[in-house]
Amino acid sequence: MIPSENEIDVVVKRAEAGFQFLQQCNVIERAKLMHTIADEIEAMGTVLIETAHLETALPVGRLEGEKVRTVNQWRMYGDAVRTGLYTEARIDQNLGGQIDLRKYNSGIGPVLVFGASNFPFAFSTAGGDTASALGAGCAVIVKAHPAHVRTSQLMADAIHRGISSYGAPAEIFSHVVSDSFEIGQQLVKHPLVKAVAFTGSFAGGKALFDLGQSRPDPIPVFAEMGSINPVFVLPDYLKNNAETFAKQYIGSLTLGQGQFCTNPGVLIGLSGERFDTLKAYLGAEIQTISAGKMLHQGIADHYIRLKNERVECDGVRILAQGKANVEEGFAQAILVEADAACVLTNPELLEEVFGPFGLVISCADRHEMEVLMSRLAGQISLTFAATEGDMREYQELFTLAQNKCGRLLFQGMPTGVEVKYAMQHGGPFPATTDPRFTSVGPDAIKRFIRPISFQNWPDEFLPKELQNGNPLQIERLVNQQWTKD
Ligand code: NAP
Repeated sequence: MIPSENEIDVVVKRAEAGFQFLQQCNVIERAKLMHTIADEIEAMGTVLIETAHLETALPVGRLEGEKVRTVNQWRMYGDAVRTGLYTEARIDQNLGGQIDLRKYNSGIGPVLVFGASNFPFAFSTAGGDTASALGAGCAVIVKAHPAHVRTSQLMADAIHRGISSYGAPAEIFSHVVSDSFEIGQQLVKHPLVKAVAFTGSFAGGKALFDLGQSRPDPIPVFAEMGSINPVFVLPDYLKNNAETFAKQYIGSLTLGQGQFCTNPGVLIGLSGERFDTLKAYLGAEIQTISAGKMLHQGIADHYIRLKNERVECDGVRILAQGKANVEEGFAQAILVEADAACVLTNPELLEEVFGPFGLVISCADRHEMEVLMSRLAGQISLTFAATEGDMREYQELFTLAQNKCGRLLFQGMPTGVEVKYAMQHGGPFPATTDPRFTSVGPDAIKRFIRPISFQNWPDEFLPKELQNGNPLQIERLVNQQWTKD
């Protein structure tokens, strides 16, 4: 449905009612609900894949994989909720004349989710933000991404089937479709919305974050806004691996037409014979890459505009290009190169070009490499194509790197984000608006909880997670001791 301005109020009030219901559900009940939704998504047939393929131009194989990932995400987050891990129950019992104090994490309130265009399943309507917010005990309102509205509706229907077969009220999940920024902005400003999750452009994420902060009652806006994910390639590693590395790098750079927030858009090395050899391999490799169709025309236009701006910048040279395709909406891969001195005087070169665009930067020496590292803005990931010998030799670089990103990689490529407990998919601003949290892995649930203490509260009226006898059998800190009492 496309709501009018007044209908927005109705949608959010329904979500508030859904939140009241979820607050009465304990971790076991929420985990069961999440598994039921996972089953419904899994049961969806080819129509989901076909619709998403038509709307996003993403290949069928990739979409099938993303569907499996999405189902697994719901189950994994559900299992995490079931353990009580995010409840963080702490119990200081009344041991003779003292107060009885018990604390746990409750859902923060109705959460507004902006779906991402580049993951129509795993980061959109039924994606990790929705699963983690429901897992935390929050009702969810999804603002559908306009580039895949029909896919979004199919996912919303599956979520509602799951909710209904579990026996929960439909109000815990709402799906809003609109083709204007205004509806999304009204939702962010609505007093009953208590948190926002967003994945997309810097401009969009920052605008929504500012809106959340400017409310009379500011709310957290968790925006994931992408990154250039620099890859540093060091001399000892390069000695034996230039050709293999070039294939790996170009493969990662052009995967999915470069439309990943972990796309390695910048490659940094030390000038010299080894780096020149690498550049030759990189150039040969990118020339084999065919142009691919982008997710939507807006992204394709944005890519072409930024690519042209970079190429026209003084000191930037084209190293090599992929195969061209002049059809509407297609993107040709490109590698450009520049010296670090040029990049340091043109800092916009270190901003994201969303698509198959790579900037190869040559540093005159180690000091220049360290200066470049210190000038980097916050990143989702930083990768080192290095040996352990390089790590000993370039210690300062590794120390600087730790304050710049959410995930550090030793060799390998940053694309391919595993959904695991130890995953950190976030990073200092402008990669995200809050580096303390991740949007991938069960820890994503932490964004949507808030602690509440109960003092001298009668046992019968406490949430089950805090009652005597541990009726849910979850891990708790009782009188300073971890126990399942
Ligand atoms: P987008 O333009 O940021 O839009 C994402 C969602 O946010 C859409 O639903 C959009 O609303 C909404 N939105 C954006 N700006 C808004 C504003 N000022 N007020 C209210 N709502 C706003 O992202 P996109 O369409 O997916 O792609 C555009 C660019 O985003 C890409 O070229 C790329 O640079 C970047 N991107 C980054 C990532 C990442 O992983 N970080 C992923 C995808 C895209 P509407 O529905 O009304 O349009």
